[in-house]
Amino acid sequence: MSAVEFALDDAVTEAGVWRRHFHATPELRYEEHATAAFIADKLRAFGFDRVETGIGKTGVVGLLKGKRSGPGRNVGLRADMDALPILEANEVAHKSTNIGVMHACGHDGHSASLLAAARYLSVSRDFAGSAVFIFQPAEEGGAGGKAMIEDGLFDRFEVDEVYGLHNMPNLALGKFSTTVGPVTSASDRFAIEIEGRGSHASRPQEGIDTVIVGTQIVNALQTIVSRNVHPHESAVVSVTMFQAGQTDNVIPQTALLRGTVRTFNPAVQDLVERRLKEVVTGVAGLFGAQATVTYLRDYPVTFNHAESTAHAVRIAQGLVGAASVEAAMKPVMGGEDFSFMLQKKPGAFVFFGNGPSSGLHTPTYDFNDQAIASAAAFWVRLVQDRTAA
Ligand SMILES: [Zn+2]
Ligand SMILES: [Zn+2]
Repeated sequence: MSAVEFALDDAVTEAGVWRRHFHATPELRYEEHATAAFIADKLRAFGFDRVETGIGKTGVVGLLKGKRSGPGRNVGLRADMDALPILEANEVAHKSTNIGVMHACGHDGHSASLLAAARYLSVSRDFAGSAVFIFQPAEEGGAGGKAMIEDGLFDRFEVDEVYGLHNMPNLALGKFSTTVGPVTSASDRFAIEIEGRGSHASRPQEGIDTVIVGTQIVNALQTIVSRNVHPHESAVVSVTMFQAGQTDNVIPQTALLRGTVRTFNPAVQDLVERRLKEVVTGVAGLFGAQATVTYLRDYPVTFNHAESTAHAVRIAQGLVGAASVEAAMKPVMGGEDFSFMLQKKPGAFVFFGNGPSSGLHTPTYDFNDQAIASAAAFWVRLVQDRTAA
């Protein structure tokens, strides 16, 4: 084993300690103050050429220049730092000490893996150009990636290509998975406020029952995917919240529904938004109720650029062998705000195996420390490969 491999192994081992520290001290979106400070301190200790904090509120960016001679390119590497409002159910030594907050999406592992690569590359600097290490806040519903861009991320740091990694539960350790084009869906949110007429529960003829109106709307919304969207296209419409009434002898005056829409194709996204509004207004009108729809386009489709994806696949194959890299995975129906970075720069979003594990966003999920090795090695190879002119 070469000295180079030893150093990466050492970094990976140390990163396991950092990962468990992050896991034990999780912070919600835009509150990643301790996490960001920890990361910035490490990057400075590694001798980075530039470290900036507070980009997009709590984001951290570190610039590392390679020492290979000749012109080089600038590659961006992105990890996320935030945790979720979930009460951890794991009984582990590194269990969350911030009760009700939990690293249930593995962002603790993403940050630790990128730090491992940062440590290794800061020692070897065995690349041309520069590597821009992006630690973003608020991936979970806070559009932290967008906030960093709006705060001048790509003006302050020159980036020719940008890549993101995310762990995938139940994909074997050491495996990678990605695809060209849409890799995660657009994620929209909606709220439907229904106004009917409250009445005594025994005198329904005097009221307009918002429970009946709401349930009819929930049912009718399911026809958008089954009857309006082309069978070859994908879409999800989920009503995830239904609030109405306080007691058992009153027909409630109002009801509130909330939910999410997931799509890959902008034309389908437009169609679903239009039909959702038509269905809600139409069904409410049928019963003499009023309904207002608030529709919010949250995260766009994460669209992997063809050339960058080919580079990522080739690099992963070089690392773990062709059989361990899925290059045409089925896109994930989940939102991911790395999408905003891929709207600005060419690049790709790649999944790596977390081994057998609970699902993301569940109270029994835990990032697998053994997955740090493959993620960190991918980052190192990516920098060495993509910065070469
Ligand atoms: Zn998540
Ligand atoms: Zn995540």
